[in-house]
Amino acid sequence: MIDLCNAQQLKELLARHGFHFSKAKGQNFLIQSWVPRQIVEYAEIDKGCGVLEIGPGVGPLTQQLCLGAGKVAALEVDKTLRPILAETLGEFENLEIIWQDALKTDIAALVKERFQGLRPMACANLPYYITSPVLSVLLEAKCFDSVTVMVQKEVAQRIASKAGTGDYSAFSVFCQYYAQPELLFDVPPSCFMPQPKVTSSVIRLKTYEKLPWEIADEGLFFRTVRASFAQRRKTLQNGLSSGFPELGKAVIAEILTQCGFSLNVRGETLDIPAFGRISNAIAARLNT
Ligand code: SAM
Repeated sequence: MIDLCNAQQLKELLARHGFHFSKAKGQNFLIQSWVPRQIVEYAEIDKGCGVLEIGPGVGPLTQQLCLGAGKVAALEVDKTLRPILAETLGEFENLEIIWQDALKTDIAALVKERFQGLRPMACANLPYYITSPVLSVLLEAKCFDSVTVMVQKEVAQRIASKAGTGDYSAFSVFCQYYAQPELLFDVPPSCFMPQPKVTSSVIRLKTYEKLPWEIADEGLFFRTVRASFAQRRKTLQNGLSSGFPELGKAVIAEILTQCGFSLNVRGETLDIPAFGRISNAIAARLNT
């Protein structure tokens, strides 16, 4: 088996195939073998799992996933990697590479089709430029047991941050609505070729089997969250008034009071149940 994380061997492999890194596709390949091994270990992958990987690159994480999982499906957008992956991972019968853009793929349908009888998991060293949209489609697909990804450290901290802290954002609420995040470990720039400018972190999002929230209208819930964070220095009353012009400031004030909040509370202090109470009250007003 080729050591895909040996920098010298990787350089030779890429040169032999005339491969050039694409910054636009977020290509930073792993060159330290402890990283993919540790990702697979922390993701708790076993032969009962079907794993979807986004962006296999030359396959260092894919290789570990194939050794640990029952089946691996990997979505890769860069077709110039095709002959390289044929050489590096051709031996694995439990691997299917799908040459498609992850953001243009029906993830839930793919999982249903490919992973029958297996526990679906997602695992990836994500390209930085599409971290949030890819994580969004993985969570919205509502079909994975867990999603374990490497992202920029600041993004991982934002995903896991609690209400009332500086990193807490609409994206924290979005991720925590679907899953419980757990920061696993940091990965320094020296573990990649080419080296990124930032430190990365691996985070595991353990999804809820059944969402524990009482939300009347999911779309309205996320609209409430977005409006609450749209202007961070504004009070919640002002943020919601701008986000729901059809209700107006006085009705928003009534809703906040009815839900037990003071009028100068700020959106970033609210947890998911609190956003749920407010969005349910907004739903009731909009439907009367
Ligand atoms: N998994 C490899 C590793 O750890 O060395 C490569 C990770 S690299 C950070 C990201 C990979 O995602 C690249 O192979 C890139 O071509 C691929 N990629 C970028 N955009 C993509 C997209 N929209 N859909 C699927 N793959 C994508």
